Parts: sequence; structure tokens; C-alpha cells
Amino acid sequence: MPDYNFFKHPVYDSLEHKYNTYLVKHRANQNKGGDSRSYRDSERKKTYASEHSFMAECNIPEFESIEEANKFAKRVYKTQKWSKLWQDSVENDVGQIFNATPSIVGMNSRNKSLSGFTDGRTITLCQITGMNKYILLHEMAHCLGNMHHGRSFRQCVLELVGAFMGTKEKKVLKREFKRRKLACGEPRQPLTFDKWVASKDRMEKMREQRDFFEAGRALLKR
Ligand SMILES: [Zn+2]
Repeated sequence: MPDYNFFKHPVYDSLEHKYNTYLVKHRANQNKGGDSRSYRDSERKKTYASEHSFMAECNIPEFESIEEANKFAKRVYKTQKWSKLWQDSVENDVGQIFNATPSIVGMNSRNKSLSGFTDGRTITLCQITGMNKYILLHEMAHCLGNMHHGRSFRQCVLELVGAFMGTKEKKVLKREFKRRKLACGEPRQPLTFDKWVASKDRMEKMREQRDFFEAGRALLKR
């Protein structure tokens, strides 16, 4: 996580107050859908599109039954990789309580649009379209504290794919994310207060200059 040094009690409309607003926006931009309730899950469609291309290119192993999916999940939960990702999610998302070892259940009815979903505790897979390893790993990435499809979700699902499918698969998925300009590396640091003030001043000066020249040009045209 980047460092967000908020001012404690800034005066309304002061520079410090505006800097806090900048930090809130910066943080939300680094993980769309993941930071604030007011930011919708805006990268979901592109993430799905990337996953479809990925699944079409790579041969994704299918599960024969829900029991088999559970067996696979239990093997994953025993690994160091999973413990590490779980630890990270607890540190980043202390407010949310998820289950460290979600169990998998089958979908009761046919749902044509959803192959899987999760509430963070249980993973529900469609027994017709959702019985594959990637769909399960996608839902598992949600259970690790990423209830959206922003940057931290993609980072997490890439880790899972690398560890439980293979390096080649991870590469293909990453390429598809990148092709759609979806960030999946570490989030960027925000500007420090001093740098932010300096860049704000610079922008204001540029605007001033532009207005000055435009006014001049308008005068000449008369
Ligand atoms: Zn999802």
C-alpha cells in the first residue's frame, strides 16, 4: 500500500483540506471499485473480457464435480502461498471478515449469466458453466478481500494463477490485462504535500498564462 498521509483536522477549503481530497481520489484511482463505496466497479467489464480471451487461449482444467472442486480448494488452503495472501488481505482489509477457507457449493438453479459468485465466505459455482479451475481461482481472489475487479483483485488472481495453474498461464492472463490497459502492478505513490502544492501552483500559472494570451488574441481580432 502507498503512504497516505492525511491531515488530521484541516480547515474547510484550506490547502490541507484540498490535499486530503486529492489523496482520497488518488487512492480510489489506484484500485477502482476497491476503495470507496462511491466508486463503482468500473474495470469489471474489461477484466471479464481479458479473462475470456485468456480462457479461450489456455486449456483450463475442468472439475468433474463440486467435491473435486472442494478437494482442489483444500489443497490450495494448505499452501504457504494461500496463507501469505490471506495474511496480506487481513492486514489491508481489517474491517471485513472473510473466511480463510471458503467451501464450494453448487448453484441450485441454472443461471445463464453467472458461472460463479461469492459472498466472501462461500463460493457458489454453476455446475454447467462454472466447473473450471480459473473460475474457482477468480472467486477465491474475491475471498481474499477483493470484492471488486480493480487492481488488487487482478494482482491477487495473477498470483493464484501463477501458483496453482502455471507460469505460462499467468503470462497470458497478464498480457490480456495489459492489452486492455488494466493496471496489475504495484499502486503508485501519491504526491507529497509539498510536491502537490508545487504542481498545483504550476497548473494555476499555466492557466493564468493561457487566459492572458487568449484575452490578447481576442483583443487583436476586434
Ligand atoms: Zn468476479
